[in-house]
Amino acid sequence: MTNRRKFLANSLGLFSVANLSEISYKEKKLKVLCIGGHPDDPESGCGGTLSKFSSQGHSVTVAYLTTGEANVSGKNLEEAAKVRKLEAENACKIMNAKPVFLGQIDGATFVNAEWRKKVRDFIKSENPDIVFTHWPLDTHPDHVAASIMTHDAWIVLGKTFKLSYYEVCAGDQTQLFHPNEYVDITDFQEQKRKAVYCHVSQNPLDIYACGHTASEDFRGREFGVKAAEAFITMPMK
Ligand SMILES: [Zn+2]
Repeated sequence: MTNRRKFLANSLGLFSVANLSEISYKEKKLKVLCIGGHPDDPESGCGGTLSKFSSQGHSVTVAYLTTGEANVSGKNLEEAAKVRKLEAENACKIMNAKPVFLGQIDGATFVNAEWRKKVRDFIKSENPDIVFTHWPLDTHPDHVAASIMTHDAWIVLGKTFKLSYYEVCAGDQTQLFHPNEYVDITDFQEQKRKAVYCHVSQNPLDIYACGHTASEDFRGREFGVKAAEAFITMPMK
């Protein structure tokens, strides 16, 4: 990390949990939680980082707000949910993560007091050190719902964990994303690709064509490594 970037991160107060790029098992075993709108979002947005953390011995949970049931051709919601749940479970096996399905419906997500509490109670029960979720400026309303309820929990629970946003299909879905943290995923690019490719029903070739490879390369160039994932981490103060 350059001194300038370190200064920037320090000035944002990011170090109550170490900078994402500097976390290793030597510090302590961390509880990492990632919340996404659909199966394949956490994998696409930060699958390399999650794989890296689990390989270092940290505990990783992936929570999907919906089961992605709106997007499997020829299947009704219930049948589609079964397919996508299995795909997500397979992806989590590859990332050595625990999958959790929060139970909203793909394409019909909503944010209300009951669900804010549900998401908040779930996050509290996980007692995480770090939570990843979608950046709230996104063209997909399910991504926005996941992001808003996670941010709400972060505030109400007293900022007891580090909150970092990831990008998915930046420019198409995630909008106006200007990262302040990076994780080198060069050694985990293949593991991430395998996790994304578990989502057979979603045409994983298309998912990657949506800009993930270009994004890994570009963020890698910004960070000075072959491949990276980028994050916007909230200041803790
Ligand atoms: Zn999605």
